[in-house]
Amino acid sequence: VKKPDPVIEPGATIGILGAGQLGRMLALAGARLGLKSHIYAPDAGEPAFDVAAGGTVAAYEDEAALVRFAEAVDVITYEFENIPAATAAFLAERRPVHPGPLALEKTQDRLIEKRFLNDLDVATAGFAAIDSAEAIAPALTSFSGAGILKTRRFGYDGKGQAMIRDAAKGEAAFASFGKVPAILERIVPFAREISAIGARGRDGSFRAYDICENSHANHILSRTEAPAAIKPATAQRAGEIAKCIADALDYVGVIAVEMFVVVGTKGEELIVNEIAPRVHNSGHWTIDGTATSQFEQHMRAISGWPLGSTERRGRIVMDNLIGDEALRWREILQEEGACLHLYGKSEIRDGRKMGHVTRVYMKETG
Ligand code: AMP
Repeated sequence: VKKPDPVIEPGATIGILGAGQLGRMLALAGARLGLKSHIYAPDAGEPAFDVAAGGTVAAYEDEAALVRFAEAVDVITYEFENIPAATAAFLAERRPVHPGPLALEKTQDRLIEKRFLNDLDVATAGFAAIDSAEAIAPALTSFSGAGILKTRRFGYDGKGQAMIRDAAKGEAAFASFGKVPAILERIVPFAREISAIGARGRDGSFRAYDICENSHANHILSRTEAPAAIKPATAQRAGEIAKCIADALDYVGVIAVEMFVVVGTKGEELIVNEIAPRVHNSGHWTIDGTATSQFEQHMRAISGWPLGSTERRGRIVMDNLIGDEALRWREILQEEGACLHLYGKSEIRDGRKMGHVTRVYMKETG
């Protein structure tokens, strides 16, 4: 029998696995509500440590450190989904872990994730499991000669992915990924990419943000705009898909579902690309664009607190500051109404997310 979650009150400590910018923004949002954060991550010098009351620098396999961490916190969450399943299970025996281990199990592996979605009658790109180089040629033929090879696990920002148009190239890509289990996906001729972001509370309540639209450059999110330029019925369906997934996972916290919008003969169709069991880059606009940011909403959800309003304050554009773009900080500070966020990373590197800037074009109100 599962122990009931403890009552969390201001002054409690939230344990966060991972110390990147998402952990940093979670800790900042928690601090505003009187919650302390304790960050656990293998590398010191990451951005979340600077803004948290407590920190542990240790490997995810270090059981002694995990025990001390669990004892120091009231509830545990994570800012990235590649936490080893064994770590989550070990911690879950000691403190509530939200979202729970089921969410990690279904989202860490692209093959398991796609089967889970299809079982819920949620459409995904066509896919084939690739466990050996020999599996590539027949899969490619069944997808009319083109596909995207993706490692099943540990991919992000386009890493562990390759566009494949002939079997020899596919076999080379498979080898370059280290011959780890992969999938081949059919190429989706999408018109837009959108995210449905919502939160599910400990009591099963669900609140979604308006659907937003994403543009990528070099496989990295570059801009998010809210609302997405899609039909109201499509937006509603996108929110329902996110809720359906969250309900199926008995999920607690913020969930982000990335989808493709395909314009076909039946109008706009939605195809789910990926589930992120956490706060997401495409939800950063909610900090300046709503009363309850995704970060605050996540802290509320895992604490068993009421979820807050997700009402959007206007039309919103969020631009990531990647690599050298962060050098423009002074210019952005001079821009009336631009909301600048810098992640405190000590070193600029190509492709590294250094910060973001949000511009809110307010609705006229009386
Ligand atoms: P992912 O790592 O799965 O989020 O993929 C990164 C990006 O690659 C997506 O945001 C899309 O722009 C593109 N992409 C991924 N999968 C597909 C697909 N099956 N068809 C077309 N584009 C894709």
